[in-house]
Amino acid sequence: MTIAYSAILVGVQIKTIQIETVIGQGFSGFNLLGLPAETTRDMRERVRTALEALGFFIPTKRVVVNIGPIEDIKLSRTPLSHLDFAVAASIIRALCLEKKEPIHIPQKEFFAGELSLQGNLKQLSNLLVYQAVFQNEPNLSAMCLPSPCKLQDERIETFENLKEWLDTRKTKSHKATIMKYDIKSHQRSEQESKKTPPNEITLKEAEKTLKTLLKKPKIAVSLLVAAVGKHNLILAGEPGIGKSYAFKNYPNLLAPLCAKKNSEVQLIHAEENDCKPPFRNPHHSCTSAALIGGASLKPGEATLAHHGVLFLDELAEFPRQSLEALREPLDSGIIVLSRAQGNILYPAKFQFCATTNPCPCGYLFSRMKACRCNPSSSRKYLEKLSGPLMDRFCMQVWIENTEEEKEIDIFGLALKETIVKGKILDFLNLLFQLQLHEDWPYEVPNLHLEYKKLSTRGCEKIKQITHTFANLFPELIKHDSFLDTIVSYRELGQKFLEAHV
Ligand SMILES: [Zn+2]
Repeated sequence: MTIAYSAILVGVQIKTIQIETVIGQGFSGFNLLGLPAETTRDMRERVRTALEALGFFIPTKRVVVNIGPIEDIKLSRTPLSHLDFAVAASIIRALCLEKKEPIHIPQKEFFAGELSLQGNLKQLSNLLVYQAVFQNEPNLSAMCLPSPCKLQDERIETFENLKEWLDTRKTKSHKATIMKYDIKSHQRSEQESKKTPPNEITLKEAEKTLKTLLKKPKIAVSLLVAAVGKHNLILAGEPGIGKSYAFKNYPNLLAPLCAKKNSEVQLIHAEENDCKPPFRNPHHSCTSAALIGGASLKPGEATLAHHGVLFLDELAEFPRQSLEALREPLDSGIIVLSRAQGNILYPAKFQFCATTNPCPCGYLFSRMKACRCNPSSSRKYLEKLSGPLMDRFCMQVWIENTEEEKEIDIFGLALKETIVKGKILDFLNLLFQLQLHEDWPYEVPNLHLEYKKLSTRGCEKIKQITHTFANLFPELIKHDSFLDTIVSYRELGQKFLEAHV
């Protein structure tokens, strides 16, 4: 019996797949076990034809290839055609052993790649899976992948076709293309990406974004504080005041991900990510299956936003069922998809951001226009936004259409001053440093919130955002209206409640 190995992605976990081949007596031909029927048929024909192109004919004996574990195969997110190379290699080895032809078989050899009928290897859609295999399999001795390949490890060998692989295994030196792998530089780059301050381009983008946002100082302050403290944030106000526009630029204010988080994100998205936190912006027609994960076992928007932002524009327009489905990941940071084939666990730690109008027409609290909605429809609208869901937003900010100079609060003024004094880069550096480091210099000042009549949860949330405000605006901690102003960044629930009555 010969054994070859491959790997697939189940949820965000790498699973090792074992391919065993036995050539026995009898005439039952080529049997492929462990795969769904349709995949079996396709793979059998591809592999058989590719082997024939190489001069290997399946003998009139019983060739049995067993692929497992079956429970992992059933839940695979990786196309199963990527197992072609491993299946073909396993059969070639078994045939060589049978005919007593010499072939070098490394200890634990991994393969990935789909075969063409001529035996050529097609490019893989997600190489990162195979990068992650090295951590799971310390005893792995060779990883055979289609060339060219960007991955770097001394155990990686790349091939254009099956024949090239066979030629190297038949000669003594079995190393075809050895990728130069510099461990020191790899470790260095890992360390750097962990605590690197953002580069010039990131700072320039952030500067541009901040200057644009400052046309509405309250929006600017909300976004900056939310970015630093990773607070869930909802902005409410009448239409056309720039709520959605502000969020579209929000990713520019976020610090790059550390190497560990970035590799988690890469496994979810199955593509390379340059350390940018994900920003997902599903439309309100999005179903609950698309939001949290569907029947196909693919990750939903909440998982795709892991370590980043899930932004729902016009929150009240989303079906109630979809919003309800978000409660579990918001509390636990994980999503469990239960399907007939088994359970899959997906991570979903995201920052929840949203915008909303206060009523269907949008002008309920407007100073400029009268609301045209009938009371029952606006009550219905607000009901959707009240209760447990609204509670998930640590920051709930009301944005006025016109923010007169005298209405700008102490934080907005401090921001404007930063720009006037040319200290914007210092401020942005502080913004990114606070996101990258957990040891913040300022503790929460003693809060006396009794007079605000807040719930216990409300007090807790105010404490959290106060900590962020204190570290982003340390010069204002001693200001008389420091705490009162912070409370105004969590007043939406109260405002909506009053409208109800
Ligand atoms: Zn209205």
